[in-house]
Amino acid sequence: MRMVFLGPPGAGKGTIAALAREYYGIPHISTGDLFRNNIKNGTELGLRVKSILASGGLVPDSITIEMVRNRLAEPDCARGFILDGFPRTIGQADALAEMTGLDAVVDFRISKEEVVKRLSGRRMCPSTGRIYHILFNPPKVEGKDDETGEDLVQRPDDREDAIVHRLEVYEEQTEPLIAYYASKGLIKEVDASLKPDQVFDLLKKVLG
Ligand code: AMP
Repeated sequence: MRMVFLGPPGAGKGTIAALAREYYGIPHISTGDLFRNNIKNGTELGLRVKSILASGGLVPDSITIEMVRNRLAEPDCARGFILDGFPRTIGQADALAEMTGLDAVVDFRISKEEVVKRLSGRRMCPSTGRIYHILFNPPKVEGKDDETGEDLVQRPDDREDAIVHRLEVYEEQTEPLIAYYASKGLIKEVDASLKPDQVFDLLKKVLG
């Protein structure tokens, strides 16, 4: 199963991808996580993209496409993959089409108001990437990761000014991909406003 998860920031793509990865036995490739890992490890790529991520803007297509091309060439992608956060522009989608075919593009549908609520309460374990929400999915101990006990952090781009910018970028650059993939007959919609296990059930249903 080769799939793309499409939807605004905060739609729950990462949370559902973690469930789908186990269920379908295929890797979850989050370009946001790949960039954040590079930033954390202080790589050359990380240094180049750090301020872009903090502002909520998009990393240039050339850099992003190359990173995904390398990742998809790894052996664990041979049986399929979940791309989460890529493509985000028509240019990226065209480049992806040259790299591989796709079986489905899942459109995570959710209102802007709900997204803002989710993102502003989102917290993350910096080493595992595990995601929490202070109200909807709190950790067992406040501010600590359930398994590692590490301090949870707020992503710099989950602060209000960056959230607004990310939503504008989504509407302008990424939303047109819904029509792009609909014209290829690949779009499967899920109601992403529901709880994670309900969204995951819907996903399994639409994927058949
Ligand atoms: P995400 O974790 O998917 O919300 O991504 C976090 C940030 O990483 C985005 O706001 C962008 O700055 C950058 N990023 C992730 N994926 C892409 C992409 N496909 N194209 C450009 N920038 C990206």
